[in-house]
Amino acid sequence: MTLQDELIAEIRANGPMGVDRFMALALGHPRYGYYMTRDPLGLAGDFVTAPEISQIFGELLGLLAATSWQALGEPSEVALVELGPGRGTLMADALRAGKALPGFLAALDVHLVEMSPVLQRAQAASLKDSGKSPTWHPSVASLPDDRPLIILANEFFDAVPIRQFQRYQGQWHERLVGVSAEGRLAMGLSPVPSAFDVQAEDGAVFETSPVSHEIMRQLSEKIVAQGGVLVAIDYGHPRFAFGDTLQAVRKHKFAPVLENPGEADITAHVDFSALAIAAKRAGARPYPILTQATLLDRLGVHHRAEILKKKAKDPKEIDVAVERLAGTAPEAMGLLFKALAVTNIGLAAPIGFDQDDPRLKTS
Ligand code: SAH
Repeated sequence: MTLQDELIAEIRANGPMGVDRFMALALGHPRYGYYMTRDPLGLAGDFVTAPEISQIFGELLGLLAATSWQALGEPSEVALVELGPGRGTLMADALRAGKALPGFLAALDVHLVEMSPVLQRAQAASLKDSGKSPTWHPSVASLPDDRPLIILANEFFDAVPIRQFQRYQGQWHERLVGVSAEGRLAMGLSPVPSAFDVQAEDGAVFETSPVSHEIMRQLSEKIVAQGGVLVAIDYGHPRFAFGDTLQAVRKHKFAPVLENPGEADITAHVDFSALAIAAKRAGARPYPILTQATLLDRLGVHHRAEILKKKAKDPKEIDVAVERLAGTAPEAMGLLFKALAVTNIGLAAPIGFDQDDPRLKTS
């Protein structure tokens, strides 16, 4: 049995499934899900993320977390939360940087929202010498409800399931995963149009991630009730845009989305404007979205790089890493990746988020 067999059996029994269910099973099926069975990160895996490129990324987010704790009034107990911590590299680097503010380290407990048992083990190993014993959560619902939260999420929301709708002969139809005559998974359209109407050209694709919106709502409600800050970084767009952004990546290359489910990472671009709306509706304050380039510039990425280069065997390597993270060339991450910050009303802007991003100004 493979995940593909299981999906085909489910579709034969219940009919075509939404892209959201396909994504949830491809990534999170308890036995065959992509994240449940492996550590996909790094050069030997399928993709590389910012914290794996340079320690500076996690260090700067640790600095952001520490200054957020100060803005919260230096509470004696605070939860430092990470959503989808991967190998635990970001958290390890953030905690090391957080030592610069000893009171912060003493006040915090580490909470990790992670569904993968394999990655939970990797996180435990990364944090073994950090002086903190993390608490794991299967979802955000069980996070502490009695203290302020400082929440970090890098490349988490892109893995949260989306639904897709496509304009066809003047109406919107949900895109569904079915089984072709040859017995393969195939993308099709629901025969029945959806009842909403937003004008667009035929062929246009509309994406929405109700699960992301719900996660954001729950976190924002906690931030409003308990105080707190959330910073989410991901590739995506600052304003809603039509387009099919569902993609699969395997061994550092794009792969067909429906081929070998459970063996490739499946993600979609994050609609940051939708996350900001969900936060606002829950009574929290979203700040204007920044590019990763601007956020890292403002957090002092170049300054930190100069310090590390003095002690480095190969200083050039650090320049290359910083260019990859904060550079604005098309192949760099600086412009493709965006950052959203959310706080309770009345809190100061997290550092870096006090001004709009001139790189995102529309003319
Ligand atoms: N933040 C890390 C890893 C990104 S990969 C980094 O930047 O390197 C996505 C991470 O989110 C993995 O740890 C994956 O297991 C986790 N994840 C994805 N969907 C999840 C869900 N619905 N609930 C909990 N964890 C999830």
